[in-house]
Amino acid sequence: MFKREQCDLCGDCLVDCQWMDVERGQAVEWIEAMMSGERTPVLDRCITCYACNEICPQGANPFDLIAGLQEKYHSLSSEESIAAQEARFEFSQELKDYPTAERVMSICVFGKTDAHLIQGELYDLPRVGGRPYFCWLLFSHIGAESVQRKRAQALVDRLALTGAREVVCFHDDCYAMLARLVPDYGIEVPFRPVHLSEYLVEFLKANKSRVKPLHMNIAYQRPCASRHTPEKEGFIDELFELVGVNRVKRAFDREKALCCAGIKMALGMGDPRPDQEKNILDAKNAGAQALVCLCPMCILSLSGIAQEYEMPLIFLGDLVRMAIGEKEHLG
Ligand code: SF4
Ligand code: SF4
Repeated sequence: MFKREQCDLCGDCLVDCQWMDVERGQAVEWIEAMMSGERTPVLDRCITCYACNEICPQGANPFDLIAGLQEKYHSLSSEESIAAQEARFEFSQELKDYPTAERVMSICVFGKTDAHLIQGELYDLPRVGGRPYFCWLLFSHIGAESVQRKRAQALVDRLALTGAREVVCFHDDCYAMLARLVPDYGIEVPFRPVHLSEYLVEFLKANKSRVKPLHMNIAYQRPCASRHTPEKEGFIDELFELVGVNRVKRAFDREKALCCAGIKMALGMGDPRPDQEKNILDAKNAGAQALVCLCPMCILSLSGIAQEYEMPLIFLGDLVRMAIGEKEHLG
């Protein structure tokens, strides 16, 4: 939620946005206009990377202000296309055949599209996935944040049916939704959302004797959703240390991470290639032998350009599988 009372009109959110070139005076003018509910060019230029929520020194959540207006003015998607997308993911039947366990993993809607990433010992725990467990975070990317808010309670209720005390989130979006956004909506979460990186760190620590250091230089592709939950970044660093890889220092990492631009492509907001190219080149020039991705959508979006520049993309879970000898080591 945008916290109007915390905004001191510094303009940082738009000045530091990687997707528009805005001078401070203009930024302040646009923020003020948006606070009055007015349409500004920001609504059409914002690719919904959530970065400004992390950039804002006052914690005012400027993206939430922008998202509300993108929905009000239908600047990203028409009412019809939002309704069609909502219908695509809706699940209204009675839920049957779900596991009950102390800990379950939610694989969101990746069971069919990315089954190859959900293989082996790491995923040998009760799992839920498919439409009933879709996390709806996509909707703030298409200018319909209210859909995500409206569907949040049903998602929590379905996951709670498992009786789990902990729900491991395969997708960063699900974690952002359950750990940050759902509580912000005032909805109680009766289980602890566990980020994939935390789960993988726990696995690595329990299987230390099986881990063979990978001795690689890697770059990390931090997904947009991580802007909502920066506090879990420590697990990412710990995981890299445990598998023996060096996270290279590069321009587009941590708070300066560059979105994979997949959503730019999906929304028809221009050619994503120059942005993707500079991202891959940044990793390459920093000495990375591979780009490690947490989000399957980043892999999908960057795969073409990565192949062109001979930069292997490795899913975070696969990095762990490589370290325990379940998957072939790239080096
Ligand atoms: S939302 Fe935050 S970054 Fe943007 S102008 Fe207000 S205080 Fe500054
Ligand atoms: S969400 Fe991203 S693209 Fe949109 S204004 Fe904020 S930083 Fe810029």
